[in-house]
Amino acid sequence: MDITPQLLTTLEKISDPKDLLKEIFSRFGNRAAIGTSGQLTGSVLIDMACQTGLKPRIFTLDTLRLFPETYELFSEVEKKYGIQIEKVHPDPTKLSEMIREHGEYLFFDSKEKQELCCNIRKVEPNEKMLETLDVWITGLRADQSRARASTAKFEIQSRGENKPPLLKVAPLVDWTEKQLRNYATQHQVPVHPLLNWNHEGWYYESLGCILCTTPIGPNEARRAGRWRWFNALDPNANKECGLHGLKKIGR
Ligand code: SF4
Repeated sequence: MDITPQLLTTLEKISDPKDLLKEIFSRFGNRAAIGTSGQLTGSVLIDMACQTGLKPRIFTLDTLRLFPETYELFSEVEKKYGIQIEKVHPDPTKLSEMIREHGEYLFFDSKEKQELCCNIRKVEPNEKMLETLDVWITGLRADQSRARASTAKFEIQSRGENKPPLLKVAPLVDWTEKQLRNYATQHQVPVHPLLNWNHEGWYYESLGCILCTTPIGPNEARRAGRWRWFNALDPNANKECGLHGLKKIGR
C-alpha cells in the first residue's frame, strides 16, 4: 500500500493511539510492525495493539547482548498476549569478523568502534527488517532526550533510490512517563524488572545491551547511562545508536 498524503491525513486525525494502531494494522497487515527493546512504551504499544483483536507484528533487535531480564520480559509478553516477538539477529559472518578484528569488547575503545558494534548488531539488522515493512511503529517519546525532543508522530523516510518510502509512526510521542505507568498499572502490562529497580535514587531510564547500559543518577540526562565511559571525555556525546538515522522526506 502506498503512503499517500490522503492516508497521512486520515491517520493524523486519529488521536487515540489504540485506534491509530488498529487503523494501521488493518490497512497494512504484516507490512506494519512495532519495534520494541523492552521499554515501557513498547510494552504499552503491544498491549494496545493486541486489544484491537488483530494479530500485530512485533519485532526486537536481539543483539545477543541483552539483559537476561529483557529475554524474560519478552517470554512473559509472548505468553500473556499469545504472540511471537520476531528476534532479529546480527549477520553471523559480519559479527565474527568484527570480533576477530577488534575483539569482543571493542565498544570500550573509541566512539568509532562503539558505532561499528552498534552498526553490526543493531543498525544493519534493523535495516534488513525495515525492508519487509511499509510502516515502522516505534516507542520514541519526545521527553526521552534532547535529541528526541523534536520527534514527530508521523515521519516519511527515504530508503534510497528506487525504493518505496517508509512511514515511521510514534503513537505515544507526547505521552509522559506518568501516563505510561498509569496505563501499565490499569492494564496489567508486563514491565521490565529493571525499570522498577531503584537504588538510592539511581534507576534505569533506558534499556539496551547489558555492558553499555547503566543506571542514571537523580540529576543526570535520561540517556546518560548509555556508554557511560564516554561521558568523561565529552558530556555532550551523542548517545544514540544510529537506529533512527534514515533521511526524513516528509511531515
Ligand atoms: Fe555493541 Fe554496546 Fe551498541 Fe550493543 S549497545 S550494539 S554491545 S556498542
